[in-house]
Amino acid sequence: MESSLTTSAGEGVSPLTGGCMCGKIKFEVTEPLLGAAYCHCKRCQRRTGTAFSVTGLTQPGSFRLTAGEETLRLYEPGDGWNKSFCSNCGSQIYTVNPENPDLLAVRLGALDQDPGVRPGAHQFVDYAAPWDPLPDDGLPRFSERLDWTQVELDS
Ligand SMILES: [Zn+2]
Ligand SMILES: [Zn+2]
Repeated sequence: MESSLTTSAGEGVSPLTGGCMCGKIKFEVTEPLLGAAYCHCKRCQRRTGTAFSVTGLTQPGSFRLTAGEETLRLYEPGDGWNKSFCSNCGSQIYTVNPENPDLLAVRLGALDQDPGVRPGAHQFVDYAAPWDPLPDDGLPRFSERLDWTQVELDS
């Protein structure tokens, strides 16, 4: 039975391109995203300066930087996914699981196109900003990390 949390790869769009605010960093995603999710964790709040973020999981090996590698920096929290960002403009680009580099998720706001997939869940809702109530959108909610069978998005 197909989980309601996942979006079949066929619904996604590819190839995708994206980049940072100042234009130094550019990337491409050659296969459709596997799915996306809202994250309400405190790290995403601090990282973005707002209530939540939306991140989409890439298929293994489908993400590639096409410009600006020297400008890209990695923040390694030590107990979660590593976060890459542009050192010139601060834009968040992607996040990657340090134990499994095949698990790499792009920030949906960094994309140039509509990726086709839509966020399928809310994670870390216990930490959601009190000034931005969760929408009544019918999507599954997870107190902590999203419970995809093989997918763990962000934090
Ligand atoms: Zn930049
Ligand atoms: Zn988060």
